[in-house]
Amino acid sequence: MNTMTFREKAARLTQLTTLDDVEHGTLKTDGAQNHHLWSDTQYQHRQLVNRFRTEVKDHYFWQQRFRCCYCSTELQPNARVYDAEHILDKSGFPEFMFHPENIAVACVICNTHKSAKSVLTDGTVRPQTIPDASTDYKILHPHLDEWDHHLSFDEIGRIAPIPGSTKGPETISICAMDGINLLRLSGHFAAKYRKKVYEMMCKVVTYVSPSKINDTFRIMMELAEQSPDALAVVATLKDRVAQLQAQRAADDAAARAALAAAAAKPAPAGPPATLAFPPPENPLTGSW
Ligand SMILES: [Zn+2]
Repeated sequence: MNTMTFREKAARLTQLTTLDDVEHGTLKTDGAQNHHLWSDTQYQHRQLVNRFRTEVKDHYFWQQRFRCCYCSTELQPNARVYDAEHILDKSGFPEFMFHPENIAVACVICNTHKSAKSVLTDGTVRPQTIPDASTDYKILHPHLDEWDHHLSFDEIGRIAPIPGSTKGPETISICAMDGINLLRLSGHFAAKYRKKVYEMMCKVVTYVSPSKINDTFRIMMELAEQSPDALAVVATLKDRVAQLQAQRAADDAAARAALAAAAAKPAPAGPPATLAFPPPENPLTGSW
């Protein structure tokens, strides 16, 4: 079933050919002051930006075997269908905005979801130079890590973390790959049901009521229409939802125990302690 191939990590672009050192220096200096210069059409050196963007995107497009650096979706050789992705985001680190080693190409979805989220292992220290070790990054780094050491496509086409990898789940979460995963699952159903099934999949992961969950799975089973592929998808999803339910129950129990422990203690002097509750579930986060 798995017919997709993996990309190798990209060789970094170290020497620009379309800008000389002075021109590149101008961009780096100006960019460090204002990250909007990346897309500012009024910038006096707009032509330099265009040359830089074109060369860097072209380099990484082919180096990455025309795949998104995070989800490995195949890209097309048209600049409008993929983005220059700043690994350390350009609003947080404008000083690295025009450094080719801090850039890769990503699909618009991954790039948009990743946005300005922190990707450094230690987000408390501001690096003076671009961190150069894989361990400096909590997500898989397009030029420092091999994609298939952290992520893979499973037997039903989902992007799945490699067991033991911490970067895999983190990359899935930061780039919100669950959306594409559920979409791919829906592709195993008859065309006329895909939209409905996709919407049910998005909902079933947020349901708490067992009867609602069972009803949804019953409808999905009917829509699977005896197709072995679609039935396998429903079974896999059922397992995953059961795991989620167990996790939620454990989290709830822990939160209740923490509340009870706090209530049993005399009130401390000073401001009241805050209890750590699990954040609200986002249906499109977590490993799918
Ligand atoms: Zn992507």
